[in-house]
Amino acid sequence: MPNRFCAICGKKLVQDDPHFGMCLKCFLKEHPLFKLPDRLSINICLDCGSYSKKDIWIEPLDNELFSIIKEAVQKFLLKSFLKKNNIDFSFAVNENSFIFSSKDLLVSLEVEIIGVLKEDSNIKHKQIISINLNHILCKNCSNLRGGTYFIAIIQLRVKDEEQFGLIKEVLDEVNDYVENLFEKNHKQYISKIENQKFGVDLYLSTNELMNYLIKFLKSKYFFLLKRTKKLVGRDTQKGRNLYRLKALIKFLPVKIKDIVFIGDQNFSVENITKNKVILRGENATKLIKDYTYFFNEKIIKKNL
Ligand SMILES: [Zn+2]
Ligand SMILES: [Zn+2]
Repeated sequence: MPNRFCAICGKKLVQDDPHFGMCLKCFLKEHPLFKLPDRLSINICLDCGSYSKKDIWIEPLDNELFSIIKEAVQKFLLKSFLKKNNIDFSFAVNENSFIFSSKDLLVSLEVEIIGVLKEDSNIKHKQIISINLNHILCKNCSNLRGGTYFIAIIQLRVKDEEQFGLIKEVLDEVNDYVENLFEKNHKQYISKIENQKFGVDLYLSTNELMNYLIKFLKSKYFFLLKRTKKLVGRDTQKGRNLYRLKALIKFLPVKIKDIVFIGDQNFSVENITKNKVILRGENATKLIKDYTYFFNEKIIKKNL
């Protein structure tokens, strides 16, 4: 083989330098493994650690600042490379580049991104990216701090004062349930509880939470459920209508073993199914009534 030389630096080429007439070093300079923007600006939520580039907030896998930064770099800069899966990336944070705000928040830093081609570790590239961090509140957390946000309402109602104890019991259970849920997902919370004459209104942060709560209550209580949906506006960004959902829950005013006076006879509540109440009269007659009966009729309950 005749002597060949690098077209760029003039270095003598060797057998494993078949890089278009260039030595490996010059080849990599001309054809870097990857090319990223020099800067990246990320929003990080002060309260929950979610991050975003524009409007869409992403919950991080890990809440530690540097792993949030790493995750954001992977998502916003390296996504297409990671999809191809042909380069191994590693990160090095330059501590000397740290700039802190007056409130001691890290607002700027440099991160070196090193990539090595999987099939040939001689082919590598590194690039320093300067990252700006904007510490703000995500939509959800600012709603949370504001305490006024809600998109669904559950109305819990009883028929008369006699059942007020039930409302209290249900509220305690609902609060426990939602607190647990909130621990796992900060989007789910009750933003307001309003007292009403025969119960309470719960203002909920999501429609999803409303469905969870209905399911939860169904497993424990008997009630009539009426759902309504009201158009309240339009999300112009997403181009869709916004609805406020309402669920009215009317707790059945009788429970198993209650004695109810119907017609001219006392009946005891023998069983309650998903939508019927099964009663047994003094003379063993069986009576089946819909839930609605107990709301529409004035029923006289006799306590044992
Ligand atoms: Zn060269
Ligand atoms: Zn947040």
